[in-house]
Amino acid sequence: MATWPPSSAYTQPVQEITIVGGGIAGLALAARLDAQRFQVTLYEQRTQLPAVGTSLMMWPKAQEALAAVGILDAVRASSPALAVGSLRSAAGDPWLVVPAGGTVAVSRPELIRLLDSAVPDSVRRVTGRFEGASPKANSSKGSEVLVGADGVGSVVRRSVWGESTRPRLTPYVAVRGVVPGRLWEDCSGEYWGRGDLFGIGPAAGGTNWYASFHSGFRPELAPGEIDVGRALELARLRFDGHAAAIREVLTTAETEATLAQRIWTTPPLAGYVRCRVALVGDAAHAMTPNLGRGACEAVIDAVTLADHLNSRPVDAALRAYGRQRLLRTQALRLGSAAMMRIALAGRLQPVRDLVLRAAGGRPRKFPPPSN
Ligand SMILES: Cc1cc2nc3c(=O)[nH]c(=O)nc-3n(C[C@H](O)[C@H](O)[C@H](O)COP(=O)(O)OP(=O)(O)OC[C@H]3O[C@@H](n4cnc5c(N)ncnc54)[C@H](O)[C@@H]3O)c2cc1C
Repeated sequence: MATWPPSSAYTQPVQEITIVGGGIAGLALAARLDAQRFQVTLYEQRTQLPAVGTSLMMWPKAQEALAAVGILDAVRASSPALAVGSLRSAAGDPWLVVPAGGTVAVSRPELIRLLDSAVPDSVRRVTGRFEGASPKANSSKGSEVLVGADGVGSVVRRSVWGESTRPRLTPYVAVRGVVPGRLWEDCSGEYWGRGDLFGIGPAAGGTNWYASFHSGFRPELAPGEIDVGRALELARLRFDGHAAAIREVLTTAETEATLAQRIWTTPPLAGYVRCRVALVGDAAHAMTPNLGRGACEAVIDAVTLADHLNSRPVDAALRAYGRQRLLRTQALRLGSAAMMRIALAGRLQPVRDLVLRAAGGRPRKFPPPSN
């Protein structure tokens, strides 16, 4: 394990890095930064690691980043692999079946626990809310680097990039959970209906599910005040006429193992670095969940930034990070939004279904995953 203070072998002066947010991006960054070159302080407002959560799809590039942090084997050991991804009609007919290419379904609490345990003891932990960026951090003359890893509502982004970058609320709600049993085995995939979607997939020790639909601006689905029990009830009503597998999952689902939230995104940004302040993860590019990429890109951002900082002068490293990550993540942000519009199509749903049925042809069979 790395120690503090640094050894004299390092020629670069020790620099202070403050990371705001100990979620996926902030923990990965704290774990990967060279502890002998940087004195790292990590702010996290939550007092405990999260206990409840659903699966996150980790694509191969994100798994490479998890390997760089040193936790890939542990992630793989606890995460079922996906053989195929399928897109289905609301009734459950498969339209498209494609190989999942080594994607694994990791439990979010487990991923956070593993990332947290990879953070060296030399990182100073502050439990509490960070209230705003210091003017010193926003100056290229200061030696401090400030990293906003504080999610879609990022206080770092709003205080440095301005209030015009506050998060945007979509009218959609996401309800999700894990139910016991391997219900997913014969019916996994994403089911697209008229103005709603439902996903069924693997979870460690169970079946992961998620539903998304328009909130209808109901007060019980208002942001920050969502009544989870009511959201589950509304999902049951909404998906009542859908595939039998969906009804079975929702009948089994319990409020205590269900999460419900409104979906927020960030506005487009022209850059992730201003002077000595950088944004990573959802603070930079929160996207709708429709491509399953937000957490993947958060880990990749963190490892990319850490590797640049570990290997070159700070200002050059920050510039290189911004150049490397901006276009790809902004394209994914736009792609996810476009995918959400198609998946949750209303009036155009019959046309969409026709096109997908024609595009899919006969679904192919793929071999089962190796674990
Ligand atoms: C329904 C749904 C399904 C999803 N499914 C997938 C998927 O399958 N695959 C995938 O890759 N992604 C998925 N995502 C996206 C993924 O959850 C996010 O992209 C990811 O959590 C972003 O990580 P982050 O660390 O950047 O931000 P966050 O997870 O939001 O972490 C931010 C952290 O900062 C802390 N914080 C915030 N403000 C402050 C402050 N002022 N002071 C101190 N601490 C602060 C918070 O407590 C939190 O711990 C999904 C998202 C949703 C909503």
